[in-house]
Amino acid sequence: MAKVDETLVQEPLEWDSPLFRTAVSQFEQALEQAQVSRSVAERLRYPERATMVSVPVRMDTGDLKMFPAYRVQHSTVLGPTKGGIRYDAHVSLGECAALAMWMTWKCALLRLPYGGAKGGVRVNARRLSGTEIERLTRRMTTELLHIIGPEEDIPAPDMATNAQTMAWIMDTYSMQVGYAVPEIVTGKPISVGGSVFRSEATGAGVVMVVERACARLGWRAAEQRCVVQGYGNVGGVAARELAGHGSPVLAVSDISGGVYDPAGLDLADVDKWIVDNGSLAGYPRAEHVTNDELLELPCDILVLAALEDQLTGDNAPRVEARMVAEGANGPTSLEADAILADRGIVVLPDILTNAGGVTVSYFEWVQDLGRLFWDRHEIRRKLAEKLHDAFDRVWDLAEDQEITLRNAALAVAIREVAGALESRGIYP
Ligand code: NAD
Repeated sequence: MAKVDETLVQEPLEWDSPLFRTAVSQFEQALEQAQVSRSVAERLRYPERATMVSVPVRMDTGDLKMFPAYRVQHSTVLGPTKGGIRYDAHVSLGECAALAMWMTWKCALLRLPYGGAKGGVRVNARRLSGTEIERLTRRMTTELLHIIGPEEDIPAPDMATNAQTMAWIMDTYSMQVGYAVPEIVTGKPISVGGSVFRSEATGAGVVMVVERACARLGWRAAEQRCVVQGYGNVGGVAARELAGHGSPVLAVSDISGGVYDPAGLDLADVDKWIVDNGSLAGYPRAEHVTNDELLELPCDILVLAALEDQLTGDNAPRVEARMVAEGANGPTSLEADAILADRGIVVLPDILTNAGGVTVSYFEWVQDLGRLFWDRHEIRRKLAEKLHDAFDRVWDLAEDQEITLRNAALAVAIREVAGALESRGIYP
C-alpha cells in the first residue's frame, strides 16, 4: 500500500471541479512527452492564485444585489497572466481554474510572455440593463485592483463581455492610478488603444493553421470542401477567409441550424440574409440541416467554431471529414478524440488553432506599451509567423513521437513553462 503523506490533507481543494480534473488529466497525459521533473510538474498542477470577491451593484430599481466574481491566475513563470473575463450564470472557481490552466498552455505554445488566467462574474448578464452592467464592471474592477495590472494580469473579453466592457475596465483602472493605462486590458475599442485586426484574428488564425496543415499533408488547400459549425465571430471570419482563398464552403450553421449546398454556398448572400433576418433560419437558397447533421456531412475540413463538446463518442464514428479544426475551445470530447485518431482523421487542437486571438491580444498589449501602432498588414504577417512557428514545432514533435497533435501541442507548451521554471527554480 502506498504510504500516506501526513503533511498533506487529502481533501479536495476549492477549485476542484469536473472541468479542472479534465484539465489536470490532459496535463498528466502530456507529461510523458514533456519530460518534466516531478517537482515542476507538481507546481504546475495547481493555480498560483485563486481569488473570489463579492460585487455589490445598485440596480436601476434602487435595490442592491450581490454578485460573486472570480479570478484565477495559473502561472506567472513566463510573465503576467492573461485571460478572459466572462459574465455567465455558471461561472465558478473550478471552471476558471481549468480555463486558466489551458490559457497557460496556449500562451506558452505561441511563445507569448504570459501565463494563463481566467475570471468571471456569476450573473445572468442578459437580465441586466446596460447601466447595471457598467456599474457591475466598474465595481468588479475595483475589487480586483490589487491583483490585475499591465505587469500582473491583463483581462480580455470572453462570454457576454466585449470591447465596451474592456473600455470600462480600462477607464476604472486608469481613474484609480490617475493616468490612462490602455495596456491593462486587450480587446478594447481602437479609440482607446485597441488593435486593428483583433476581432478577425481568431478566425483568420484558424485558416492559417488549416492551410499550414494542408501544406504538410500535401493537400491543395483551395480544393478542400469545408463545413463550418458556428457562423459567429470565429466561424464567420474563418468561412469567409476559406472561401476567399478558393475553398468551397458547403455548409455553415448558427444556433438556429445549418444551411447546406453541396456546390458551395454564396457567403455574401448568406451574410446579407443574416443582416436582414438576424439568423440563418429561413435562408431560401440552400438545403436546411440540423447542427447534428452538419457535423456528419461529407467534406474534407470540418471547422468547429461554436461551443464545447460537439464531437462525442456517439457521433465521432460518423464524421466524414478528413480534418477537424478546433476554432472553439474544447469542441471534441476525450472519447471522440480517440475515435478520430483511430480513424486517421487529423484534429488540429484548440490551443493551437484558435490561438490567433490571444496572439493579437499580445500584439495589442505590446503596441500599447510602446505607444506605437501597426497596420493590419503588419499584424497579419506577424500573426502568421507566430502561428506557423508554433504549428511546425507541434507537427514535428507529433511526427517524431507518433502522438496526436493535441498531445504534441500540450507537450510543447508544458516544456516551455517547465523549462523556464527549472531555470528560475521554485522560490525560495
Ligand atoms: P460567437 O458568439 O460570435 O459565435 C458563436 C456562433 O455559434 C454563433 O453563430 C452561434 O449562433 C453559434 N452557436 C451557438 N450554439 C450553437 C449550436 N448549438 N450549434 C451551432 N452553432 C451554435 O462566439 P465566438 O467569439 O465566435 O466564439 C466561438 C468559440 O470560439 C467559443 O468556443 C469561444 O470560446 C472560442 N474562441 C473565441 C475566440 C475569439 O477571439 N472570439 C478566441 C478563442 C476561442
